[in-house]
Parts: sequence; C-alpha cells; structure tokens
Amino acid sequence: MKVMLHACCGPCLLEPYDALAATHDVRVVYANPNIHPRAEYERRRDVLLDYAAGRGIVVEEAPYDPAAWDAAVAGLEADPGRRCRACFRLRLGVAAGRAAAVGCEALATTLTVSPYQDPVAIREAGEEACAGAGVTFLLTDFRDRYGDATRRSRELGMYRQNYCGCRYSDDEAASTRERRRLERAGRREGAAGGTTI
Ligand code: SF4
Repeated sequence: MKVMLHACCGPCLLEPYDALAATHDVRVVYANPNIHPRAEYERRRDVLLDYAAGRGIVVEEAPYDPAAWDAAVAGLEADPGRRCRACFRLRLGVAAGRAAAVGCEALATTLTVSPYQDPVAIREAGEEACAGAGVTFLLTDFRDRYGDATRRSRELGMYRQNYCGCRYSDDEAASTRERRRLERAGRREGAAGGTTI
C-alpha cells in the first residue's frame, strides 16, 4: 500500500519509517506549522532531510504557515489538551491532503512514537483529517519503539529538541524543568537534614 507518513522531526522518523517501510511503499511529509520559532522549524526539518537523503527516503515539505496554526488553536492556548487536538487536526489535515494529492491510500504519523502525546487525540484527529481527504488513517502505536528511537538518534548525533514545538510548549517544558530542579534540590536538602516546619 502507498502510505504517506507525517513526520514531526528526524528522531521520531527513525523507527516508524522502518516499521512501515517493511510492508508498505512509504513517502514522508514534513507538515509542522506549529513549530516556533522559524529557526527551530528549519533546524528540525534539516535534521530530517539530512537523514532522509542518506537513506533515499522521499520527503516533501508542506508550506510553513504559522498564522494558520495560530488560527487553529485560537482560544485554546492555555488548555493543552484541546490545543494539542487542534494542532494534530491541522497538521494531519495538511498531511492527508498531500497524501491524497500524490495518490497515497493511507496516512500515518510519527507522533505515535512519543509517550508524551495523547494517542486518542492523535487517532481522532487523524481519522477526521483522513475522512475529509478520502484516504485511510493507518492506526499505529510505536511507543514501544521510543527507547530505540532515542538510542539511535543519539548514536546518529541528531539534534533532539527539549520541547514539543509550539511557543506554549516551550514555556511549559521550561516550567516543568524548573519544577523538577526545585524538587531535586528539595530532596537533597531533606537528605542532608535540612529545615522542617
Ligand atoms: S504542545 Fe505540541 S502538540 Fe500540543 S499544541 Fe504545542 S506543538 Fe502542538
């Protein structure tokens, strides 16, 4: 079957591509207007393209349209659950459109390799996007390959980002790292017999 694989970045492409290419004719689309800022978008894209070129993988890039992404998540910025669903719908909608345009019968996404993404939201967004484009959404769950994807991307020296992609996730990830830093510091202080109240 001819499958279009939506890819969010190079590290996440590794395992899903190999899994799908074992049984399908796979091409890749980089459709990620969520990524902020543009320099980060380009950095992730170039890592993906470098790897794909070395493997002879066909990749096309959808137009980078951050204004369309802003419109898709308008009003949902502070609600990550709903914001991410809208984000998935937009990106998979673009990818499904490209799949249909080049004669692919199905769409899959590398998003399902990440244990940090909501698989139900991805499935619902994918099915909705594909129904609109007249292609099948290929249901995948690559989370058991996340460890291998991490290992391989490190071995390849790939850039590995520390936030999902949008400006809100950059702030959220920074807050999470700071909270964990404070928790670790608190535990160290407690282990050293620090102050209790
Ligand atoms: S956190 Fe990730 S999936 Fe959610 S809206 Fe931001 S870029 Fe999209």
